[in-house]
Formats: sequence, structure tokens, C-alpha cells
Amino acid sequence: MGLRIVLSGAAGFIGSHMSDRLLAEGHTVVALDNLITGSLKNIAHLESHARFQFIHHDVTQPAPVESPVDAVVHMASPASPKDYLEHPIETLDVGSLGTRQLLELARAHNATFLLTSTSESYGDPLVHPQVETYWGNVNPVGPRSCYDESKRFAEALTMAFHRKHGLRTNIARIFNTYGPRMKLDDGRVVPAFLDQALRGEAMTLFGDGTQTRSFCFVSDMVDGLYRLMQSDERYPVNLGNPRELTIKQFAEEIRRLTGTKSPLVYRPLPTDDPKQRQPDISKARRLLGWEPRVELEDGLRQTIEYFSALHRS
Ligand code: UDP
Repeated sequence: MGLRIVLSGAAGFIGSHMSDRLLAEGHTVVALDNLITGSLKNIAHLESHARFQFIHHDVTQPAPVESPVDAVVHMASPASPKDYLEHPIETLDVGSLGTRQLLELARAHNATFLLTSTSESYGDPLVHPQVETYWGNVNPVGPRSCYDESKRFAEALTMAFHRKHGLRTNIARIFNTYGPRMKLDDGRVVPAFLDQALRGEAMTLFGDGTQTRSFCFVSDMVDGLYRLMQSDERYPVNLGNPRELTIKQFAEEIRRLTGTKSPLVYRPLPTDDPKQRQPDISKARRLLGWEPRVELEDGLRQTIEYFSALHRS
């Protein structure tokens, strides 16, 4: 039978795809978003869906949600470096106060709770690839700390609610994810490079482009999240695509797929930008029977199509 699920951050990039997936599985979605980085455009197609309700709400305040609530999925947070550097206090608030409010909501309704945390919990990692048992290398006072520490606090609070109150919690550590509905101007490397490539403008590589990332297509990510919220695993689980590329290789792949003549230009590396990132997904494979299926080329083609349509409109 369908569950009634409260989803925070439902108008965001991954949140809106999660809304689609939960509805497709027959559930009812009570979607919360304060729209500071999310967009109603991402969920416009769900407006008249019978099992979808949107509430414009800041989750640092008590959620105006009635019974029953079977599951709470907490995805609300600025998530791109540009967004969280612009909203550092809101980022810390949503990970701390927001997580607290939503944990209380789950507890009051005896609902399950899924926290979407981040690979940034590992900071600039000294262990590679990153495995869940690694505690990380985070600068607690650097510009990225508003995001990293907010999510680390959220993980600690989630574990505390599980230990103290027996709440059925899950924690996903989401690695770089891409796909349609990313914000064109959110500063992340996927929209930045695609926007530049499609306009024929110079593609801006930060640093020397040798830093690495591993990119997961959004449908794979949502599938992992959906499996995780049904599991009994209380400790964090990495979700991401293990295929690792340097940012320079990634730029070249985008040049190839878009056919652009955009030159590559080099810009200073942002402070504390992680030098390498690749998820070890053995745990997700073992516990959830999950692994990414969408090849980078296929995922990028779909994303290019989305951004091309935005450019045309
Ligand atoms: N990056 C880049 N050019 C851009 C935007 C980002 O070279 O226009 C680099 C950035 O320095 C980082 C990587 O791409 O090393 C991924 O950045 P993003 O902001 O997408 O996410 P992060 O993984 O750092 O959270």
C-alpha cells in the first residue's frame, strides 16, 4: 500500500526527481521547500497530481503536516558550493535546526527517516576511494565548512535519535550527481561546463584540472535512495558512481559530446576544493543490491538535451 511521505527539498534538483519516483511507486508526497535554491518549475508537472501536495515551508520551523506520516525524507539544503557560500547561515540552520524539526516529526508519527548527507562529510579526503568508515578530513572553519559541518552534525543528530529513541533512520552520503533540472547558474561543474560549451564560450577549469570527481546520473541516485529508505541499515551508505575522471577529462568529454569549439581556460582553485573524490560503493552493492546503470555518455546526452532546451526557450 502507498505510504504518505514528507519530502523536504522537493523542489530541488534531486528532490524533484525523488518526488517523481515516490509518486511512480504509488506513494503520496507532501512536498516541503522554502524555494531559496529550489524552483517550482522542477515540480510544475506535478501540480495537479492527486497524490502530490506542495507546502511552501522552511523546515527549520515546525512542519505543518497532519497524520498519517509514514516516512520523512530530508533532502532540503543548498547543495552547490556557490549556493552554500551565498547562504552559509541558512545552510547551517537547515542541517541542524531543520534536521531536528524533521526528526521530531518522524518521531511524533512513528515514521522512518532518511537523511541525505554528502560526500563532503569526507572533506578533502586522505583515504581514496572513500569508504563509509573513513572519518574524513574537514576544515571546520573554512568557507565550505558551513555545508560539511552542517551535514556532519545532521548525521550525528540522526544517529542520536536512532540510539536514544529507536527511530528507524537511514543516512545516504550522496556523491556528485547530475542530470536534468540542475540549475543553470548554480556554479557546479556540470551546468557551468554545459552552459559554456553550448554558448561556445570558454570553459573555466579551476586549478590545473587534475582534481577528480565521479559523476552519478540522477535516476541512479534516486534509485539508491529509494532502496536505502527501505533498508534497516542505520550507518551511512555511500551512493555515487565510482567512475572517476579528472575535471580536465570531464571537460574534454563535454567538448566531444556537444561538438563545441570552446577553449579551456584556467581559473584559481577555490579554497579547500577536494583534490580527489570517488565513492567506494561496496556497501550499497552488498546491502541494497544497487549500483549505477547509466553510462556517463548517456546521462550527459540527456542533460545536454535539457540545457539545450533551456537555451532555446
Ligand atoms: N569546477 C571547475 N570549473 C567550474 C566549476 C567547478 O573546474 O566552472 C571544479 C571544482 O573546482 C571542483 C569540481 O569542478 O573541483 C566539481 O565542482 P562542483 O562545484 O561541481 O562540486 P564539488 O564536487 O566541488 O562539490
